[in-house]
Amino acid sequence: MAAVGLDKVRKVYPNGHVALKEASFEIADGELLVLVGPSGCGKTTLLRMIAGLESISGGTMTIGGRVVNDVAPKDRDIAMVFQNYALYPHMTVRENLGFGLRLRGVAKEEIDRRVADASDMLGLDERLDHRPAALSGGQRQRVALGRALVRDPAVFLLDEPLSNLDAKLRLSTRVEIARIHRRLGATMVYVTHDQIEAMTLGQRIVVLNGGEIQQLDTPMNLYNKPANLFVAGFLGSPAMNLFHGTLRRADGLQVETKQGTIALGTEAPGLAAYIDRPIIVGIRPEDLLSVADHAGIAERLRAHVDVVEPVGNEVFLNMRLGSEELVARVPPHSTVQPGSEVAFGFHAERLHFFDPETTARII
Ligand code: ATP
Repeated sequence: MAAVGLDKVRKVYPNGHVALKEASFEIADGELLVLVGPSGCGKTTLLRMIAGLESISGGTMTIGGRVVNDVAPKDRDIAMVFQNYALYPHMTVRENLGFGLRLRGVAKEEIDRRVADASDMLGLDERLDHRPAALSGGQRQRVALGRALVRDPAVFLLDEPLSNLDAKLRLSTRVEIARIHRRLGATMVYVTHDQIEAMTLGQRIVVLNGGEIQQLDTPMNLYNKPANLFVAGFLGSPAMNLFHGTLRRADGLQVETKQGTIALGTEAPGLAAYIDRPIIVGIRPEDLLSVADHAGIAERLRAHVDVVEPVGNEVFLNMRLGSEELVARVPPHSTVQPGSEVAFGFHAERLHFFDPETTARII
């Protein structure tokens, strides 16, 4: 097993497109690190650079302490799992699993042992003598995972491995990947554009946008302390509510928006420099607490409810504050009706503040 190091790694494609601006970070030995971001943010490029399938335009990449900038993919001790798991249709599952090892000249008994281990881990024992056409999509993806497992590589690279599966299979295969990671203690780099996959699988997550690392942190830190507006908006569904306004000190701090004034009920020292200046206040939908349901919560804003969406274990209230849209997540027993006015409060420590110019988090 091995750590992966990036020191000022850059990628410029021959057409001049900068797919990755200087990235420096380390993936620890045995860590499951997720690369997440919207389409075109550069996550696949970065994964392919670790694999050696894309050249490195600048900086230094190491695997297990060895500089690999010019090392061919086959000599990097990595295994990659793609979203379109190309299995050999004329081979059985057993042959598909063992094929890469056979090419490498591994002894037959060793191949049999590793194939048996992988198929046991992935629950493929019953399917070993079937051809891919006789397997379900989920089983095929497990064979693709198995082909990486039998290689016993230093680093596993997974590129959206679940995106061809239906919702239920995605969930069970996701759990399976987490289980395999725990059992093997292997270094894994996992690319996805799905924030739920990123949050549930990643020990740490790199959020990318426009070829730039926005934040590298644990899932909870990304959620609770997003470093900028991009991360705040990207993680969390429904997304964080954002209010643009001017910070004032009157009777305590407040934000004056076009829609009215929101009393903040906080006196954080980090905000002093923003008094009488533009500011963006963020609050997650679950942190808007209806005054009627929460004893002791002071009213801070009053919103007009447009649409009520029950989703089973909770209810989304789609609302307006003047012309500004906002969403609250409330408990399933809520009886709020469309067209009504609801008073909300919040705990001041759950607020997020951003600088409108730099988009960076203030506190
Ligand atoms: P997706 O989720 O859509 O796969 P991604 O985040 O994985 O997106 P990349 O495939 O890494 O994004 O692409 C990053 C950027 O680099 C995109 O703007 C893409 O158009 C561009 N790009 C990718 N491959 C090349 C190439 N061979 N030549 C020029 N530009 C490229």
